[in-house]
Amino acid sequence: MEKTEKVLHLKSSRGRKVRVVREHYLREDVPCFSALCEANCRNEGKVLPGDVTHYVVPDVGVVRDFLEVLEFAELRGIVFMQTACQSVQHHRGRRQYNRLRSLLRDPRHNCILFSNEFQTYSYCPREKGESQEKWHSRCVYHAAVWYYNHLAGQKPVVMITEDQEAMVEYSSLSTGVYVISTQEYLQTFWPDLPAANELYTSIAQALRVRESESQEREYVEHLPLEVLEAGIKSGRYIQGTLNVNKHRAQTEAFVRIEGSTSKNSELSSDVLVPGWRQRNRAVHGDVVVVELLPRVEWRGRETALSNGDGEDRPAEEPQSQPMPTGRVVGILQRNWRDYVVTFPPREEVQSQSRNSQRILVIPWDCRIPKIRICTQQAEALQDQRVIVRLDSWESSSLYPNGHCVQVLGVAGQLETEVATILVENSIRVLPFSEAQLKEMPVNSADCPWRVEAGPEGQRRDLRDSHLVFSVDPPGCEDVDDTLSVRELPGGNLELGVHIADVTHFVPAGSLTDLEARSRATTYYLADRRYDMLPPVLSADLCSLLGGVDRYAMSVLWELDGRSLAVQDVWFGRTLIRSSYQLHYELAQGLLEGRGAEEVAELADLPVEEKKQRLGELRRALERLTHVARHLRAQRDRGGALELEGVEVRAQLDAEGNIAALVPRQPLEVHETVAECMIFANHWVAKKIQASFPHQALLRHHPPPRQEFFSQLCESASARGFSIETRSNKALAVSLDRAVDPSDPLVNRLLRMMATQAMSNALYFSTGSCPEEQYYHYGLALKHYTHFTSPIRRYADIIVHRLLMAAVEKDHGAEPWVALPNNKELQEQAQQINNKNRAAQQAQKQSTELFQYLYFRDKDPLTDERCMADAVIYTIRANGVLVFIPRYGIKGGVYLKNREGQVVSVRPDGGCDWQPGMLHRFPDRISASTAQGTHNFNLFDHITVRISVQVSRCHADSLYLEVVSSRPHQCTELEPGGARGPGVQGKSELVQEVVRSAEEASQLEEERGRAPEIAGEEQEFRQSTGVTLYSVLQEIGELALLELAAR
Ligand SMILES: [Zn+2]
Repeated sequence: MEKTEKVLHLKSSRGRKVRVVREHYLREDVPCFSALCEANCRNEGKVLPGDVTHYVVPDVGVVRDFLEVLEFAELRGIVFMQTACQSVQHHRGRRQYNRLRSLLRDPRHNCILFSNEFQTYSYCPREKGESQEKWHSRCVYHAAVWYYNHLAGQKPVVMITEDQEAMVEYSSLSTGVYVISTQEYLQTFWPDLPAANELYTSIAQALRVRESESQEREYVEHLPLEVLEAGIKSGRYIQGTLNVNKHRAQTEAFVRIEGSTSKNSELSSDVLVPGWRQRNRAVHGDVVVVELLPRVEWRGRETALSNGDGEDRPAEEPQSQPMPTGRVVGILQRNWRDYVVTFPPREEVQSQSRNSQRILVIPWDCRIPKIRICTQQAEALQDQRVIVRLDSWESSSLYPNGHCVQVLGVAGQLETEVATILVENSIRVLPFSEAQLKEMPVNSADCPWRVEAGPEGQRRDLRDSHLVFSVDPPGCEDVDDTLSVRELPGGNLELGVHIADVTHFVPAGSLTDLEARSRATTYYLADRRYDMLPPVLSADLCSLLGGVDRYAMSVLWELDGRSLAVQDVWFGRTLIRSSYQLHYELAQGLLEGRGAEEVAELADLPVEEKKQRLGELRRALERLTHVARHLRAQRDRGGALELEGVEVRAQLDAEGNIAALVPRQPLEVHETVAECMIFANHWVAKKIQASFPHQALLRHHPPPRQEFFSQLCESASARGFSIETRSNKALAVSLDRAVDPSDPLVNRLLRMMATQAMSNALYFSTGSCPEEQYYHYGLALKHYTHFTSPIRRYADIIVHRLLMAAVEKDHGAEPWVALPNNKELQEQAQQINNKNRAAQQAQKQSTELFQYLYFRDKDPLTDERCMADAVIYTIRANGVLVFIPRYGIKGGVYLKNREGQVVSVRPDGGCDWQPGMLHRFPDRISASTAQGTHNFNLFDHITVRISVQVSRCHADSLYLEVVSSRPHQCTELEPGGARGPGVQGKSELVQEVVRSAEEASQLEEERGRAPEIAGEEQEFRQSTGVTLYSVLQEIGELALLELAAR
């Protein structure tokens, strides 16, 4: 090994130049990571394949400025030189460097890092007087030549650069190594990848303009990092994440204080950052440092209704209270993502581009400021939605700079709008790649898949000993859980929960595993879903269908025959064959002595055998019900909550289409199955926590902050109910009591408010959280995790691996060394939490999208469907928040208009606008005009008219207008009481929108001008079909509380 010195010139965060001398060791055995290597390099891990036409080496400048282009998975055989990577680290900061590192680590991406500066023969010391840029180019070029020679000239090497001089100097220096510009490279080698070419042009343009810009200052400079860190330590500054209020994006942002980092003890609330100057270039989601303003400058938050309001936490204080107010002095971490934007209208483009080369585009997310884009295509992109990334935001620029990445399609079209929702939630769901699908087992008519016995003792065969069955909604195709219950000799009972053994098919670190991990969950939108696992697993081999052999992970409890106390528990891999695939109504029917002729599995049996098997099945269901009642009662004593969750159920016709949505009949069997799943999750949680106290994945549900309940308590007391919120038990009991016999909606709304006040349940690693915080508030359990749905939740896959490791540990094996450590697991937990939040958000936004599309082409003045009954559930300064049961919509209704007129109520209940005033009380708001005074009380039913406010750049919004102070007189017959029709309305809504979107695209095709959507977007739609049904099935899971726990 040879030692030299290396001199670096770095820029400190204050902008000073610093000279750093580092010792530098050279070796001959630096691995090349190529499959073509004939020199016996120790190439461990990812290697470049030999089946590419060339290898490509990007120069320092290319890696620094065009990394996004190199991220296209189609570009294979990329060699990142150490010189280039270090330059990214030193000049582009942590975010870009992390991006590069994750690219290098991602096995789905075909690139490697070559440590050229440690290789004795490819290292070039810097020459006297040589500029850093020239030296870097020389290093990369020499390394490229070394690489070519090392592989004995088997592959041509292409070096790409933005440096004209380097091109001239090196292009003809040696054979086999070509030096060309990035643009030439993309055009020559990747003409079929227009997206990469366009992205290159877009970034290059943005770079050129930035260089030519003036330096007039618009914002105060950020403080240097040392000063920020010292300030946070001393308590002078506060660190937190910037959260912009979407209803008042210009004027209201809050900094949410993180953990207990703040020494400022008087700060229990968020810090208000009032305007864009004080926000000082921070973007929603950034981690910022704020300085508090003097108390006299503190302000309160706005509480009047504003556009699109209605989704806020109910806990807002009236406006009066001034709160800690501050300004941003520095930014610790940018959390920029891809943003969908719209170009300004033609007239505006023309006036803007006269003055500069830049166009101000408007992000779909109102919390994001306008972005300056440099493009000549502004007019061509008029009606399109486009993905944009932010590059920088200098103090000299009023708006941030960015560049275009991809065109999504015409705004307003269903596919564009769905793609927008996915991008805005950072959800990437490309079709499963060929390489991933190659890992999958085959199951076809020619080549049917069969279980293998495997080594003795590794998998318990339950096929002959256990009566296993599943209970699911009708038409369910991914059955991930089954049950069994039987009497043991001696009188004890054995309860069994058997879950699809997904990890048998998905080894840790395989491509399928990595894909599932990055998705983290199956995504359910209003009209489609994107699966976490390829269909051969999710709908076939991992689906515990009736009558076929399947691998499972089982939990078997031995329960005392009388007390039902757990005597013993067994965890492990099993082989099962489910005997019955029941649906809920059928199972409930059997329990009640009906439905025998509906059991398909028994249809063809002789009478006697049928009778005997039926008896067996009934007995099993009865025992299960008995056990579940006992378990539920135990949790109830602990304070388990039943909140507004699953109350809607899809009824499918023979083809599996939604025939109707009906309110959930309170079938006990639902709860029975859910209770068994909760029990399994709970016991698995206990097991993995005991085996791996510092690295087990659990799920906790923190108790809510008391102040979030104030709205709930106030609203309830308006109806004479008192809600106790001291504990989950007290809350559960008082919610049960708050029932108005004349209006079932009152209880439902109160539960809805209670749900809103809750925090989210979250995954965590046991080593990252003190034990007293493991508690699951909603379920009233000390330990909880997710084990029962590995087909559509990655958390369950992790838990299955942990459980198997725990079992092997009991047998003396040491497999747990390969498990993720606490830090890694905590990172994974956070990633899954983020993805779940994104999934929930996307689901909500897609439901709203369907509402807008549904109402968009209806005339609100004449169409009966635009009139609906609405219930007031919150009072605001200038209006009320209402819930519309028919469509499941929540929103604000103004009682005062822009002209300052207020709602005046005629004797027949009809409303119009008159001069007057509003008075707000805790339980009502009164509107007084010359005609008289009318009180709008909490829980009053009123009639509203629904119309759509179309927005060019953002999502549309619904506008609710009060037309009568009385309940809506519905003309049609509404079966099923107050809930039924609403729910039906919602399903019709989705169906109608899908139908009309399909008709529209059909029409376009017939006319021969199909909408231009790139192949990739078309394929975005992985699976269509019966999906609202799936959504509803998922509600329990995606909602805050695991009510259904399935
Ligand atoms: Zn080699």
